[in-house]
Amino acid sequence: MTLEEYNVIKVNTIADLPFTEADIFDPEGSPMLVEILKSFDFYYKTLISECGHYGIAQPYIFISSDTSKNASAGSIGTKYVIKLNVGLLNWLISKFQLGTTIMVNTDLKALEKLENKLDIEINEFYYQLASHFTFYHELGHLIQRSVFLNVGIQERSNHNQGGFNIENHILEYDADCYSVLCLANHTVDYYERLFQDDLDKEVIEALTILSGTVICQYLLTFVNDIDDIYYKECLHPHPAIRLLYSLMTFCTYLKDAWHNKGVGINFETIFLNIFYESINLEENFLGGKNSAKLLEIINSERPDLLRYIAELQTAASGRVDLAVYKRNQTLIP
Ligand SMILES: [Zn+2]
Repeated sequence: MTLEEYNVIKVNTIADLPFTEADIFDPEGSPMLVEILKSFDFYYKTLISECGHYGIAQPYIFISSDTSKNASAGSIGTKYVIKLNVGLLNWLISKFQLGTTIMVNTDLKALEKLENKLDIEINEFYYQLASHFTFYHELGHLIQRSVFLNVGIQERSNHNQGGFNIENHILEYDADCYSVLCLANHTVDYYERLFQDDLDKEVIEALTILSGTVICQYLLTFVNDIDDIYYKECLHPHPAIRLLYSLMTFCTYLKDAWHNKGVGINFETIFLNIFYESINLEENFLGGKNSAKLLEIINSERPDLLRYIAELQTAASGRVDLAVYKRNQTLIP
């Protein structure tokens, strides 16, 4: 997408929605101009084509000038809007896409395994996965068309912003699972585009592990510190809960998808390696110890975590308004 094309979309968005020119990011002169235009091109085109499948006639997406790490989905009358803060994009770009040191002296085994096998640099690939996952989560909220879209569903929230509501937890659970399924589907398509029928189990597992670490890092984007575990509190489920159900959904989908193609991938090995590689990635490149804290919580609280996840699953099951249900309907021939 050119800057001119971006600006046309910007002008149309300002004309149709109650936002001013100052609200929408102007990438001109930004050192990340090329990356931002490339990402927005993917978001915009995917939004238009995906919304067509779900009967959403007037979808909008824009990059907000807000420099905090946040994203939101909302509706204004019949118009559905995804807002990605430039602070979030800058963070994704600077951490991952421009994070070329990720491959230097790495002892990340999944990355080593993929080096020289992909058609793009590993940091670029990592950025694309993170970018896709971020976008698909918000798209999931639009597809849900919940009543909460009227007030806007914010990804970053603190404990003081509204109390617990089980419906919010169900919507987050569903948007996460929707995004995870889109990402899993992308990884299978990507592998097949690169290698066709040449099925290399080690590369498939490394790709799955790498994508799993992206999910982990995305869920950590919106928290400063991992608080003590909570269940029925806050607008979003605790990151440990989100990570556990996301990885369970992700690994189960991929295990079945690859099994159908004749490759048996080891669920347990992949699951644990996602944590080990996430911890490694944070300690060596991203800073922080949140993945390690998540693993600690998951190890010590597993029965209660699984019980709460089962409660969310049961509540979401069979609900025709949710994004995963609608996605499955579109896949039925
Ligand atoms: Zn959300």
